[in-house]
Amino acid sequence: MDSKSTRGLATRAIHGSSGRDAFGSPHTPIYNTTTFAFRSTADLLDVVEGNKPGSLYTRYGLNPSIVALEETLAGLEGAQQAWAFCSGMAAESALFLTHGREGVVCIGDAYGGTLELLSSQLPLLGIRTHLILGSEIDRLDALLAAGAKLVFCETPGNPTLELIDIPALAARVHAHGARLAVDNTFASPVNQRPLALGADFVVHSATKYLGGHSDLTAGTLMGSKELLAPVWNWRKNLGSMIAPETASLLSRSLRSLVVRVRQQNATAQLIAEAMARHRGITRVMYPGLPDFPGHDLARRQMDGYGGLLTIEVSGGGIAATRVADRLRLFALAPSLGGAESLVTQPCTTSHHDLSPEERRRRGISDAMLRLSVGLEDPADLIADLEQALR
Ligand code: PLP
Repeated sequence: MDSKSTRGLATRAIHGSSGRDAFGSPHTPIYNTTTFAFRSTADLLDVVEGNKPGSLYTRYGLNPSIVALEETLAGLEGAQQAWAFCSGMAAESALFLTHGREGVVCIGDAYGGTLELLSSQLPLLGIRTHLILGSEIDRLDALLAAGAKLVFCETPGNPTLELIDIPALAARVHAHGARLAVDNTFASPVNQRPLALGADFVVHSATKYLGGHSDLTAGTLMGSKELLAPVWNWRKNLGSMIAPETASLLSRSLRSLVVRVRQQNATAQLIAEAMARHRGITRVMYPGLPDFPGHDLARRQMDGYGGLLTIEVSGGGIAATRVADRLRLFALAPSLGGAESLVTQPCTTSHHDLSPEERRRRGISDAMLRLSVGLEDPADLIADLEQALR
């Protein structure tokens, strides 16, 4: 183990890349260039043929701003390799097209875009996909025995925060010679590191906690060098590369990731406890509450309980809409992980396109509001919820 991988997470977030520039900048600046010039054809061929590391062409990812970001990302998840992408969906698409062609099984709640890609679009290419609920996990062995080679899950899931036991799932998937990919967007590497728990891939919408300021769109896929090597050509030729400006902005954001997420964990815990005591709330879903069904599992596989929680408002869907519309600090917006607190009503946003029966089957009620806790003062956020509930 090299000295870099034994450093703490906050240190790795700041000193995770070896990139410095010739002028002594403490971090890699923006290399806002599409291509790089060589002194000779022999030098150019050395890079093209992979004999020497070097910068070549930005869409290939061979740009110092992008390489520096990828080194830091890999260090945070304990991955051998990270590839950066222009969005979380671009990272997922490259994963499915490279490693999911023999069939993909998605377990539990996943982001709506992921569900649409898997259920409506990949089948157009002849890729067999199966969407099963966490409660239907008994179907997994048969699907893997029938040939599916990639299992995908999101934990905590959206919007119920349902948790999946990553080590147990990884063992089951590996017994069939298949691979496990975990979308770690909700937890962030501060709270959960799936590769260390047995997963083969980690995917992130870096648009969320990694970016952390609601001002960039990006994604990343991480894993072993061997498994990520074939993804490189797909990213290159699908053209789903992150821009150098965005890569630099994301590296900037990562330097504060640990303090941001730990604060969001602490504030979310306070809000969850306040909402659990509130008469206008019938249920609070948050892994940090001792009576949450996944609490013991969260204690085992997570280092923090996260900045997302879901509350169920008494009075049903209409009452929940009224509360969402009356919140002042929580902005009504479909994203998460930023410095600003956000609220969504899943039945009108992420899960709007599912039929009411399918929402019910997935345990998603109209009365649910999902809160993404930002970096405001906890007392102000609780006061905002209390005035809206009144
Ligand atoms: N995964 C999760 C858990 C998400 O919430 C999202 C977006 O909301 C995505 C993936 C897709 O990410 P992006 O919007 O960066 O493409």
